[in-house]
Amino acid sequence: MAKPDTRTAGRKSTAKSPRSAAETEKIRAALAARRDELRAEYDHTLSEITELQRDRLTDSAGDDPADTGARTFEREQEISLANNILERITQVERALERLDEGGYGWCERCGNPIPVERLAAFPSATLCVTCKQLEERR
Ligand SMILES: [Zn+2]
Repeated sequence: MAKPDTRTAGRKSTAKSPRSAAETEKIRAALAARRDELRAEYDHTLSEITELQRDRLTDSAGDDPADTGARTFEREQEISLANNILERITQVERALERLDEGGYGWCERCGNPIPVERLAAFPSATLCVTCKQLEERR
């Protein structure tokens, strides 16, 4: 027996209708999954940096200077990648905090809720797709 959906029937069309608890949970899960993913990526990058560092220390004796230079460059690339990931982790964590406060997931321009899918893909998104496109067109 199907129950009638009273939630959708009585929904008001005000611009800032609150998200349902289920929706908020969906965003929270997406953000948490994203954070875990980024943390794993960060750990991986860090172990690569350590490895490159070890290589540089252990077999630099008979090395071609050009080779050492390339390795240093590679290591610097890895470090900037690690910093980049760290920055993204911070963004996701900030998003989770704002989600708890109820201020996350609303478009800064039009005030409409940003779709869950968009937030999952871009946790730092502050504009809905329509406003983002308008912004880019200018
Ligand atoms: Zn918008």
